[in-house]
Amino acid sequence: MKKVPEILTLEEIKKEDIPSVGGKGASLGEMYGIGLPVPRAFVVTAQAFRKFLGETGIEERLFAGLANLNVEDNAALEEASRKARELVLSVGIPQHLQKKIREAYGELGSELVVAVRSSATAEDLPDASFAGQQETYLNIQGNGDLIHSVQRCWASLYGARAIYYRAKQGFDDRSVNIAVVVQELVEAKKAGVMFTSHPVTGEPLTIIEGSWGLGEAVVSGSVSPDKYVFDLRSGQVIDRLISAKLEMVVPDGKKGTKTIEVPGDMQKAPVLTDAEVKELARFGAIAEGHYGVPQDLEWAITGKDFHILQSRPITTIRAPVQGKPAAAAAGKVLVEGQGASPGIGSGHVAIIRDIKDVGSVKEGDILVAKMTNPDMVPAMRKVAAIVTDEGGMTCHAAIVSRELGTPAVVGTKKATSVLRPGQVVTVDGEKGLVYEGKTVAPPQKEKAVAAVAAAPLITATSVKVNVSLPEAAARAAATGADGVGLLRIEHLILGLNKTPMWYIRNRKEEEFINELAGGIRIVLDAFPGKPVWVRTLDAPTDEFRNMAGGEDEPHEHNPMLGWRGIRRDLQSPDQFRLQVEAFKLLWKAGYSNLGMMFPMVSHPDEFIQAKQMMRGWGVDVENVTLGIMVEIPASAILIEDFIKAGIRFASFGTNDLIQYTIAVDRNNENVATMYKPKHPAVLKTIDDTIRVCRRYGVECSICGQAGSDPEMAEWLVEHGISSLSANIDAVAKIRDRVARTEQRMILEAARRVHAREGVQ
Ligand code: PEP
Ligand code: MG
Repeated sequence: MKKVPEILTLEEIKKEDIPSVGGKGASLGEMYGIGLPVPRAFVVTAQAFRKFLGETGIEERLFAGLANLNVEDNAALEEASRKARELVLSVGIPQHLQKKIREAYGELGSELVVAVRSSATAEDLPDASFAGQQETYLNIQGNGDLIHSVQRCWASLYGARAIYYRAKQGFDDRSVNIAVVVQELVEAKKAGVMFTSHPVTGEPLTIIEGSWGLGEAVVSGSVSPDKYVFDLRSGQVIDRLISAKLEMVVPDGKKGTKTIEVPGDMQKAPVLTDAEVKELARFGAIAEGHYGVPQDLEWAITGKDFHILQSRPITTIRAPVQGKPAAAAAGKVLVEGQGASPGIGSGHVAIIRDIKDVGSVKEGDILVAKMTNPDMVPAMRKVAAIVTDEGGMTCHAAIVSRELGTPAVVGTKKATSVLRPGQVVTVDGEKGLVYEGKTVAPPQKEKAVAAVAAAPLITATSVKVNVSLPEAAARAAATGADGVGLLRIEHLILGLNKTPMWYIRNRKEEEFINELAGGIRIVLDAFPGKPVWVRTLDAPTDEFRNMAGGEDEPHEHNPMLGWRGIRRDLQSPDQFRLQVEAFKLLWKAGYSNLGMMFPMVSHPDEFIQAKQMMRGWGVDVENVTLGIMVEIPASAILIEDFIKAGIRFASFGTNDLIQYTIAVDRNNENVATMYKPKHPAVLKTIDDTIRVCRRYGVECSICGQAGSDPEMAEWLVEHGISSLSANIDAVAKIRDRVARTEQRMILEAARRVHAREGVQ
C-alpha cells in the first residue's frame, strides 16, 4: 500500500488521494482547494486502518472469517458480519495512532463537536462507490468519544449490507479499506441541499431546498423543505415555495441528534433570504465550474457563516441503464401522459373526484384529477405534482401548473382509475411519466451549460412572458422578460368564483371593476415601463358554469367553438363594459404600457365594433394600444384588413390556431397525437401573417404554447416575428435560442456579403 501519513488535513488532500482518504475525503479536500467554505476537517487515512489491523494482529482472523462466505445465506452473513465487527471493536487502537488522532483533533480545537464519517475506498478501483453502507456518527465530542467513533466506523466496514454488496460487485474484502473523516459539526441554524443546475433540463437554474436545523431532515425527506429557484443568467431568485416545516433535527446535547417540533412562528417563515440564496448559488456555480458537471451539494448556515458539506455530480444519482430509457431505471411506469410542466415531484396520491375532496389534499401530495378547475388552485399550490386524465399542453392544469412551477403530467386518460389514494408515486413533468414509489431525479443526458453567471442576453426579438395568475407576476418578472405578451384574465375572474353577470345582477359592478383592475395592476407593477398586453375575457361557457352566476350558462355542444372571446363580449355589452372600465382606471392611473388584446376575433368588423363601444364609454381608442389574437384562421387570412382597421399588434394564439386549422380539439387526449404545432398549414398561415405585419410595421408576436418551444422559436425568428411570449419556465431557454438564432443569421448574412465581395 502506498506510503501515506495516518492523518491528512484538508489542505494536504489532493484528488489522487482517493485510495487513502476515500471519495468523501478527497471531495472535501478538493472543495477546500477551490475556495468553498468547507467546515474544518481531517481524515484518518486508509493506511491508518490497515496499520490498526496489522499491528493489533487481527487482520488474518478477520479476512479468514469472511472468506468463502455464502452471502445469500442470511443467517451466515449476519453471523460473519457480527463476528467481524466484534473483532474490530475488541482490540484497542495502538497508542501512536490514538496520539495522532488526538493531535489532529487538538488542532481543530479539543472539545470541538465533530461528525465522524466513514469513507470506504477500494485501492485499485478508486471510482468504486460504497456510499451509505458505512456508519456516520454525529455530535461527537472529546478524545475518548472520538477514538471510539473512529473504531466504530472501521467496524462498520463489515456490516452485513456492506459485505453483501462487495461480494455481489466482485470486490475482495481485503482490497477494500476505510478512511474516516473527522469534521467540525456545524451547528446549522438552517441547512439543505442544492442542485447547481436544473436536474432534469440542465438549465442554469440553481435549485435550493432548505429547512430549519441540521440538514438530515431535508436529506431524509422527513420534512417538506422550502424550495428556491435561482436563475444564474438574470442573477435573481425566480421562484420560492415556502412550505410548512413542522420538524427539525438538532444536536441532542449528548451524543446524537433529536427531532423536535419547529416553533410555530418559524414553520411557515422562509428559511432563506434572497441574498442567502444568491450566495449559495454562487458556491454552487464555483463547484459546477470546477467539476465541469452539475453538482448536488449539501449546505448549512450557522449565523452568518455558510458551509458546503458535500458536492457530488448529479449524474451519479442514478446512472442510466445502457440502451433503456431512463424510465426503466427509475422504476415501474404506472401511467403516461404529456409532460406539461417540467420538474420531478414525489408524494402520496390524493385523488380529487369531487370538489369537496379538495380539503383532504395535503402539502406535498400528488394531486390526481380528471381535470383541474379554478376551485382547485389553492390545492394545486401546495402539492408536489399534478396528474390529470384529460387535457393537453394548454389545458387549465397545464397552464396553472407551469405558473406555479409545479410538475404536471396531463392527458394520461386513466390516472384516476389506475393510481390508488395514498400510493407513493414520482411524477416526471418533463417526460410525462408517473413512476411507482419515490425515485430520485433522472440523470441528465448531456452536460449542462456551465453555470457561471453570464451577462444577460439582449435579443433584437423581444422575449416576453405569459402570465395568468397575478401571484406569478414576480416570478415572471424575475425571468427578465421584455414584457408580458399575454395576461389571461379569465383565471383571475374564475378565481373570484362569481361570473361578471353575478356582479351586474347584484349591483356590485364597482367591486368587479376594482378586483379586475387590482389584479392587472399587480402584473403592471412587476413590469414597469415594459409592454403588458392584457387579454379581454375568454372563458368558455363550461368554465363559468360552476361559479355563482353561472347557473344559466348555456350547455354548448362544443364550448371551444362556442360563446367565448370577443364574440361573447360584443353580445354582452355589460360584461364588456365592466372590463373596459377596469382598463380605463389603469390607463388613467398612467399605465401607458398597458395594451388590450381581443381574443377569438374572426372578422375586422368585430374589432371595429369593439372600438366603437369603447369610444362610447369614453376611451380615446386611437391613443391606446389595441391588438388582436390571431387564433382563428379567418383573422390570419384577413390580417391586412385588421391592420387597416387600426390594430397596433397581432399575437398568434397557436393553441387555438392549430386546433381550428387542422380540426383537432386541443383538450381531447384521444387526438392529442394529431395535434401538430408544426403542421405545414399552420406554419404557412403564420408565415403569411408575419409577412403582412412586417410590410405594415405592425408588431407581430406569439403567445400560444408553441412560443415556448425552442425549435418553433428559431423558426419564428427566421421568419421575421417581432416578439415571442413564453411560459415562465420557458423564458430562459427561448431567450437563449432566440439569441443564438439571431447571431447565426447575422453571421450568415455577413458571410454572404463577404463571399460577394470576394467575387467582385
Ligand atoms: C392560444 O389560443 O394560443 C392562447 C394563447 O389562448 P388560450 O390558450 O387562452 O386559448
Ligand atoms: Mg386561445
